[in-house]
Amino acid sequence: MARARDTDACPGALQVHQAADGALVRVRLPGGMIDAAQLSALASVSERLGSGTLELTARGNVQLRAISDVTAAAEAIADAGLLPSATHERVRNIVASPLSGRIDGRADVRVWVRELDGVIRADPGLAELGGRFWFSLDDGRADVSGLGADAGVHVFEDGCGLLLAGRDTGVRVPPEDAVAALTAIAMRFVDLRGKAWRVSELDDATALWPGAKLGAGFPVVTRPQLGWITQNDGRIALGAAVPLGVLPARVAEYLAAIEAPLVVTPWRSVLVCDLEVEVADVALRVLAPLGLVFDEHSPWLSVSACTGSPGCGQSAADVRADAAGLLDADSAVHRHFVGCERACGSPATGEVLVATGDGYRPLRK
Ligand code: SF4
Repeated sequence: MARARDTDACPGALQVHQAADGALVRVRLPGGMIDAAQLSALASVSERLGSGTLELTARGNVQLRAISDVTAAAEAIADAGLLPSATHERVRNIVASPLSGRIDGRADVRVWVRELDGVIRADPGLAELGGRFWFSLDDGRADVSGLGADAGVHVFEDGCGLLLAGRDTGVRVPPEDAVAALTAIAMRFVDLRGKAWRVSELDDATALWPGAKLGAGFPVVTRPQLGWITQNDGRIALGAAVPLGVLPARVAEYLAAIEAPLVVTPWRSVLVCDLEVEVADVALRVLAPLGLVFDEHSPWLSVSACTGSPGCGQSAADVRADAAGLLDADSAVHRHFVGCERACGSPATGEVLVATGDGYRPLRK
């Protein structure tokens, strides 16, 4: 079913969203990849011009709130190399298996992330994709294929499976054709979309690829890999969840100070990669007291929240504060707190609790 509206309100670094607490800037990180200097630059922008926090999104991007000088923020983001295209900044939405190339998997999809990003930016027509359309590249471990991207590749034993709206189409292409196939799907979507912004909004998604059939989806992965993770090369990756996805700029600076490659995951965690054992040991001791979560049994992994008050004018409550106050180590299901029935950021599974002004009620089970 096509949507009635024809404007793309999705924020970027240049086209910002005016929220109740000021300008909201979203910075795309294809594959969630960011280096230490870039993370430090974002932390500095947030401290100097914004709320002093970095919000991690479910697409592995970063957003900054309450930005007082949008032009100065965009300049700093561009200087850090995080704004390589003014025309395509909001359509570089690529989620990839965060540990690809470092631990197991059938392919190193990091190469495809960079290639796909380059192809997207080079095609003027793909600027029309819109900020909500996103790609997934799963190296075969089945971590991101279940997240329901519009167009995806999943590496099987017998080739790369093409996914539409998170569902296997039955089509297999050789690995060397994976990026070209995703690009072709995106171009076809631009031609066919009408007023649709997502593949799931098309009347017939199979029209995006000859012979495609919409088969089964993949199980939804809801939690990141945390703690001490030994890479195939013997080095260490540290997996740190960020409570409610809100990373204080001060903590981001500590992460950047390790001077290691970083990956922001779609589960609102950060991987600090390629560490020698001694460095990882020290880093873990420094980071753990700062509020980052390394324990896979932490109650923080069972709770999430929309922006709520004061950032969103629609909210009936400060849902983040309430979610933090209602942590439940024994909760059997994930609980997502929202400030109104729009239920932004609701996960595919779990319980959504909507603020009433006098507590919370279940929105759906
Ligand atoms: S769910 Fe409602 S209150 Fe929460 S961010 Fe969305 S619009 Fe705002």
